[in-house]
Amino acid sequence: MASEERIEGWIPRTQVGRMVLEGSISSIKEIFTEGMRILEPEIVNVLLPELEEEVININLVQKQTDAGERSRFRAIVAVGNRNGYVGLGAGKARQVRKAIEKGAVNARLNLSIIRRGCGSWECMCGKSHSVPFQVKGKTGGVEIVLLPGPRGLGLVASEVAKVILNLAGINDCWTKSYGSTKTINSFAFAVFDALKKTYGLVTPERWSL
Ligand SMILES: [Zn+2]
Repeated sequence: MASEERIEGWIPRTQVGRMVLEGSISSIKEIFTEGMRILEPEIVNVLLPELEEEVININLVQKQTDAGERSRFRAIVAVGNRNGYVGLGAGKARQVRKAIEKGAVNARLNLSIIRRGCGSWECMCGKSHSVPFQVKGKTGGVEIVLLPGPRGLGLVASEVAKVILNLAGINDCWTKSYGSTKTINSFAFAVFDALKKTYGLVTPERWSL
């Protein structure tokens, strides 16, 4: 229902969008395996109708301009299907609601496929409940490391990291963070950066971690 509301009146502007609307692309995985780009949020709404949204942070941004001081809200929004897909985006606007809407659109455009697994030597269950190997993410002055953990461990992470990991469908992992971890926005993007690396170049060396 929600997804149909969201695509009502959608006139795709891209080839990928047209293919999704007419049904010749019917799975989100295809988008990633074929290396296609998501340039319209509706693509995600159609292919992942179960997508969930969480507001990570809202802050007031003040800027000096020739016309005086201008303040706007900046919202960081995460989306995910709790099953291997997660996105994170920022949106700025004069109204909070608009900032969240823009953040939600950008989170969809930034959607990423996440590789999950059981990289834990303590567990070795072979199921997709954790990260497959250790991954590192960096944004601004923040660095975070996600380490595979055994089933039942849960997320040993800060609240912000938990929200993003949950949306990605990671149930168990250890985290270590360094730098200015109080900067929520950079921290959130560092977690997202680490998750994206689960599908990056996988070398045998990394598999053994
Ligand atoms: Zn396991």
